[in-house]
Amino acid sequence: MAESKNSRGYRIIVASLDGAESKTIAVGPLRFKLIITSLVFILISFIAAILLWGTVIFTKSQNTVLRRELMRVSEQAARVSLIEKNMVEIDRYVQYIRKALALTGDSVPPALEEFMTNDSLKSTYETSADSLDFANIPNIVPTDGWVSREFSEKEEHLGIDYAASVGTIIRSPAKGVVSSVGFDDFYGNTLNIDHENGFVTRFAHCNESIVKKGDRVNRGDTIATVGNTGKATSGPHLHYEIIRDGKPEDPRLYILKGLE
Ligand SMILES: [Zn+2]
Repeated sequence: MAESKNSRGYRIIVASLDGAESKTIAVGPLRFKLIITSLVFILISFIAAILLWGTVIFTKSQNTVLRRELMRVSEQAARVSLIEKNMVEIDRYVQYIRKALALTGDSVPPALEEFMTNDSLKSTYETSADSLDFANIPNIVPTDGWVSREFSEKEEHLGIDYAASVGTIIRSPAKGVVSSVGFDDFYGNTLNIDHENGFVTRFAHCNESIVKKGDRVNRGDTIATVGNTGKATSGPHLHYEIIRDGKPEDPRLYILKGLE
């Protein structure tokens, strides 16, 4: 194909290779421009279509990747929140065990390697663990009621109050021996249980005592009933104290999850 140009337009001469007669197509300048413009337009449209198609394919694959990523992230988020929940539980148990083993303060428990290689450290822990009988640790809520007042050293309220109707059963929170049953002007009918491991629990404002001094009790045994005796101005409730080595402590530190 060859082109020749004249002032009026173009002449396209189609020459045959086998020597046959050539054909001449005359194209006016306007028509030539139109043809070129159309070809350029088609070319641009074609390129645009390819680019668009490519973009669509790319976006689609990106979407699939993102969707997978989102699924993975939300699965992980669910796992993390479960771990967080478990950590809170574990923290409670660690606190409980630390209290029970008489590990005071914020001292960090020894690392396992240190524990395994340091004999004196090992024997210290083994001794405290040996002297510990969980049956004697007051770790259940002693009555079916709702907490109407928390333990607070600041407010000089050295126990927890459980509001409950008169006659509601009070259970022993651990194994021990009833060390005293009596009446106090302020605390009303009161009984104490000595758990024989440094723990003493105290039950005040009782309606009546079911056990007497010297009785041996186990965790869960009925020992008294909720009352409104003494100077219990807030209505019937149990005032429950845990005294450890002579010092009142927050009973919540000892109540185990699932036993509350
Ligand atoms: Zn109280």
